[in-house]
Amino acid sequence: GFGNSSPIPRKQEINFDDIGGQGSAIKELKEALDFIRNHQKIQNLGIRPLKGILMTGPPGTGKTLMARAAASYTDSVFVSASGSDFVEMYAGVGAQRVRKLFQSARETANKQKKRSAIIFIDEIEVLATKRGSNSSHMEYDQTLNALLVEMDGLKVDDNVRLLIMAATNRVDMMDPALLRPGRFDRQVKVDLPDKVGRFEILKLHTRNKPLAEDVDLTQIAKETFGFSGAHLESLANEAAILAMREEEKQIYYRHFHEAIDKVIMGEKLDRRPNP
Ligand code: ATP
Repeated sequence: GFGNSSPIPRKQEINFDDIGGQGSAIKELKEALDFIRNHQKIQNLGIRPLKGILMTGPPGTGKTLMARAAASYTDSVFVSASGSDFVEMYAGVGAQRVRKLFQSARETANKQKKRSAIIFIDEIEVLATKRGSNSSHMEYDQTLNALLVEMDGLKVDDNVRLLIMAATNRVDMMDPALLRPGRFDRQVKVDLPDKVGRFEILKLHTRNKPLAEDVDLTQIAKETFGFSGAHLESLANEAAILAMREEEKQIYYRHFHEAIDKVIMGEKLDRRPNP
């Protein structure tokens, strides 16, 4: 997908301001995160800690960005993995990797003298398919069990407080055990942006680009129905490349117009069935 085409270096901090068109998802997420920021009050009232937030929605809509912004917002270290990192031929390796991930989150937080860590697991459906279903087999079940054990073990008074954020575009495939209270009991929908959302995202991704006077981002937002944030990032980049090829110093509307077709074509190529 577009996940790897990010222009944002891995280390740079991401804030909620860097995410466009996800106002209501961000609001919901912040409400959940305020539980962590006010953890003393939570503890005093005996409220059980929030352990997991599941972000659902199509690829390239900003789920990874949201998790990274959540880490800045709560002053937590950010540790990430993908569901497919846990898939191994040998029994027990996946489960071992889950335990290592939790351990490394704690160690990283300690090293950086932070009291909390966010563990982000992308494509969680890979390791969290319904147990006993066709696409699941014993090795995945062990890995999923290891994750459940780690999550169940999290305590409000842990030295380093951990929050697990996971992303999926296949919530229907998830093992219901993961969605029970005390596990991923918060869900945040991260949908494709609407017209206004697309405008906001285009603004973000053109903020460091010289736009010619004839570029109307509202118009471009209208013409990009169905585009994700990742598509729009790619669009802005492609338009700049086209301008460079024409040795222009600015990016004109025609470059965006041509780039829209390129992004749509690229998407079609991406979706070719594997031979
Ligand atoms: P996937 O499910 O494919 O991993 P994702 O939902 O996690 O996708 P991200 O990795 O967060 O998507 O987005 C990929 C890139 O697309 C980002 O680095 C950013 O450049 C751009 N992008 C996606 N969504 C947004 C958004 N809402 N606002 C600004 N940029 C976005």
